[in-house]
Amino acid sequence: MTQKIRRRILALALATVLTLAIVLSVFGIGQALRHEQTLSPLQTASQNYGTIKLDCNYSEDSHTLAVNQLTTYINHSTQTLFDVKFHLYANAYQKDAAYPAVAPSEIERAYPNGFDAGYAKVTTPHILIGGEDNTVITVPLDHGLKTGESIDLNLQYTIKLANIKHRLGYTDNAINLGNFYAIPVVYDNGWQVYPYSYNGDPFYNEPYNFDVTMTAPEGYQIATSGTQVAPNHYQGYMLRDFAIVMSRDFKTLTREVGNTTVTYYYLNDDIPDISLYTACNALAYFSNNLIDYPYSTLAIVQTDFLQGGMEYGALVYIALDVTDQLQYQGVIVHEIAHQWWYGLVGNNQIRTPWIDEGLAEYCTAVFFETHPQYGKTLESIATQNRESIKMFENIMDEYGVYYTRQMYKNSTDYHMPTEYTINTYARGMLLFYAISEMVGYENLNQALAKFATENCYRFCTIYRLTHSLEDSLGYDLVKFINNYLAGRQDTVL
Ligand SMILES: [Zn+2]
Repeated sequence: MTQKIRRRILALALATVLTLAIVLSVFGIGQALRHEQTLSPLQTASQNYGTIKLDCNYSEDSHTLAVNQLTTYINHSTQTLFDVKFHLYANAYQKDAAYPAVAPSEIERAYPNGFDAGYAKVTTPHILIGGEDNTVITVPLDHGLKTGESIDLNLQYTIKLANIKHRLGYTDNAINLGNFYAIPVVYDNGWQVYPYSYNGDPFYNEPYNFDVTMTAPEGYQIATSGTQVAPNHYQGYMLRDFAIVMSRDFKTLTREVGNTTVTYYYLNDDIPDISLYTACNALAYFSNNLIDYPYSTLAIVQTDFLQGGMEYGALVYIALDVTDQLQYQGVIVHEIAHQWWYGLVGNNQIRTPWIDEGLAEYCTAVFFETHPQYGKTLESIATQNRESIKMFENIMDEYGVYYTRQMYKNSTDYHMPTEYTINTYARGMLLFYAISEMVGYENLNQALAKFATENCYRFCTIYRLTHSLEDSLGYDLVKFINNYLAGRQDTVL
C-alpha cells in the first residue's frame, strides 16, 4: 500500500466517522449508546419491566408503617386493561380472616403475646378494596391501557403490624416487612387473584424494579432486598419481591462472592462465620451450576419466623428458633436455592408449589452431595423424605383420615398443613431425585441449568418444565412426571 492510498483511506474513514457522529447525534442514538454502555446487564434487562417506588416511614410506638407507593405499571398482556389490581396481604393478619396468615394449630407459637391483629388502611381515593379478607386493591383507569403502554399509579396506605413471628410483623427482636407493599397482580387471561393461605407461600409475582426509602428511628440496622445507594435509600432490579428486616440488635458479617456482597445479619449465632461460609458456598455452587446470580447483594437475615425460613428477592429469612446446627445450615442452603427457583425462574406458587419447593429441596440435596463436610448425601436426604411420607401415611391410615398423593392441587386447597408439606417438599424433591436416578444427577444438573437459562425472569409451568427436561435428557419424562403428579408414585418411592 502506498502513502497516497493510505492518506486517502484515512481521509475517507475520518469523513465516515464524522458523518456517522452527526447522524447519531441528530437522532439521539449516540446518547442512547453512551447511556447503554453505563448500564449493567441486569439494568438493561430491567428496562422492559415496571418500577415500584416506596417511601416508607416506620413509627416504633404505634408499630405502623406509612407507605407512599408509586407504581409504573406496564401492560404486558395482549388485552386493553381498564383497571389494575394489587394484592395487599397486610389484611390477611386481621381478626377472623377467612384465609388467616397462621394455621389454627400454630397460633400459640406464632403470637408471642397472644393474638394481635394486623391490617392496612388505604387512604387513596377512588380505588376499590375487595377480594377475600380485603387483600385485593382495584385501581380503575380513566382510559384503557393498551398492550405495551405504561401508567403511573399512586397508592397511600398505613400498615399496622401484628405482634407475630411471621413474614409481616414485629417481635422484641426484629421487624419483618415481607410482602408488605401493594404487589401488582399478574394478568394472564384475566387477573390472577388468589387469597392468602397459611399453606406454603401463596404468591405469584412478576419481577419489578424497586426504589425504596425507609425512615426509621435511630439505631435500627436495616437489611433489604436492594443495594444501598444513599442513607436509607435502596434500589434493586428485576426482583420478585422487596423485603426489609430491621433490628436494633443485628450483628453483621460480610463476604464477597464474585460480584455479590453477601451480608449475614444475625441476632444469636455462636458460629456466624460458618453460617456465612455456608451461604457463600451455596451462592457460588448454584451460580456455577445453574445460572449466574445477577444481583450485587444477598442478605441472609436471622429473625423471628414461624416456618424455618422464607425467600425474597436477594434476601432470605432464617428462623431464630432453628437451633440444630445442621438443620440451620440446611435452611440457609434451601432459601438460597430459592433465588433460582421462585426468584430468577418464577412459578405460580399457589398452583404449582411443588415446582419451586421441589427444585429448592432437590438442589439443596445436590449441594450437600457435592459438599461432603456436612455429612449428608442425596441418597440420605431421599431416604429421609421416603420415611417421612411413610410415617405420615401410616398415621393417616391408622386414624382413618383421608389424604391424597395427588400433587395437582392448589396450596389453598390442602386442609392439613402436613399433607401440603409432604406433597410439596418430600414428594417434590423425590420427583427430581427419581429423574436423577434415571439420568444421573450431573446430567439433570445440566438440564436444569438450560431450563433456568430459558426461563430466567419468566414463569415456568408444568408444560415448560416437563418438555424442557424431556428435550434435554431424551427420556419419556412427560408421561413419567404426569403419572407422578397424579399420585401414582408407588413404583418409584
Ligand atoms: Zn422453600
